[in-house]
Amino acid sequence: MTDTIFGKITRGEIPSDFIYEDEHCVVIHDINPQAPTHVLVIPRQPIPKLVDAEPEDQSLLGHLLLVAGKVANDLGVGEGFRLVINNGEGGGQTVFHLHLHILAGRPMGEDELSAQFA
Ligand code: 5GP
Repeated sequence: MTDTIFGKITRGEIPSDFIYEDEHCVVIHDINPQAPTHVLVIPRQPIPKLVDAEPEDQSLLGHLLLVAGKVANDLGVGEGFRLVINNGEGGGQTVFHLHLHILAGRPMGEDELSAQFA
C-alpha cells in the first residue's frame, strides 16, 4: 500500500497540531477549510478507502464516529455539524487514507448536497 501525507502526519513525521489524539486516531485542522470549523479525524491504521474496510475494522470505524462526536462537542459545534467521508475519486477523495471531515459554523442546509436530497 502506498503511503500518504496522512500516514506521515499520524506517525508524527510531519509536525502537526493534534487537537485530539489517542492510540487509534488523530484529529487535525484541515489545511484548506471549507467551513469555519473543518477538522479531520484520521485513523492511525491506514485504510485507503471506506470500501476497503473489513469486518475486523468495525470497532475502529465505530471509534472514529465516537471521537467525531466528542471532538465536535469540544469544539463547541455539537449542536450542528456535518460528518463527511469521501470515497474514491468519484466521491471527491484526494487523500487515500480514510478520514472523516467534521464541518460546521456555516449553514449546512442550503448547499448542493442538501438540495440534492431535499
Ligand atoms: P478528501 O478530499 O480526501 O476527502 O480530503 C482530504 C482533505 O485533506 C482535504 O480537505 C485537504 O484540504 C486536506 N489536506 C490535504 N493535505 C493536507 C495536509 O498536509 N494537512 C492538512 N491539515 N490537511 C490536508
